[in-house]
Amino acid sequence: MNSHFPFINIHTHKISDTDVSILNVSDIVFLNPHQQFVSIGLHPWTINKVDADKTLELIRERSKDKNVVAIGEFGLDKLIDVDTHLQETLFREQITIAEHVHKPIIIHCVKAFDNLIRIKKEIKITVPVIVHGYNNNVQIANELLKNGFYISLGKALLNEESNASKVISLIPDELLFLETDDSDFTINEVYEAASKHLKKDIELLKQLIYKNYIRIFNHE
Ligand SMILES: [Zn+2]
Repeated sequence: MNSHFPFINIHTHKISDTDVSILNVSDIVFLNPHQQFVSIGLHPWTINKVDADKTLELIRERSKDKNVVAIGEFGLDKLIDVDTHLQETLFREQITIAEHVHKPIIIHCVKAFDNLIRIKKEIKITVPVIVHGYNNNVQIANELLKNGFYISLGKALLNEESNASKVISLIPDELLFLETDDSDFTINEVYEAASKHLKKDIELLKQLIYKNYIRIFNHE
């Protein structure tokens, strides 16, 4: 059966021939305006490896580019050796950039969900916020959903026992995304796994996620 709805890969680090995918570009210096859709951001893991101010300036400049469809991934990570305050400062600055250009945010969050939710409430973020690669417990998922976050699930769905597999059915259709991130799985495999967990036809799933994509990325 031919489908009218494309596979949407909301977050990947690999160039692929997926219908629609948002490539996370780590070296934004090489961003080419003719490239496919990209997201740009200063990842917490990169903070200490680059000139953070310069990188922010570059993100600010390029954030207006047409093919830059989202700001990210950036976020908060408690398992790395980067000052928490510095992480939070850069996090807030990138939110400001996203708000300025009205583009969705793709979030990397490790053991810092309390802070993430607190900051979202505090500064009343108006652009859509997608927590990518979610693989945490039901309680945190519920908190995120209650606070209007979108949740994107990836390779963890291929493991029956993962948290992602346990929370997927709790996520309302209109807040769900799927992704491959840096894994070697294809987005089709991730959709197949999601479709099994949800007991939903894969074509229906494609339709639901496509709707979300259109809604938050303002593509007509
Ligand atoms: Zn990623």
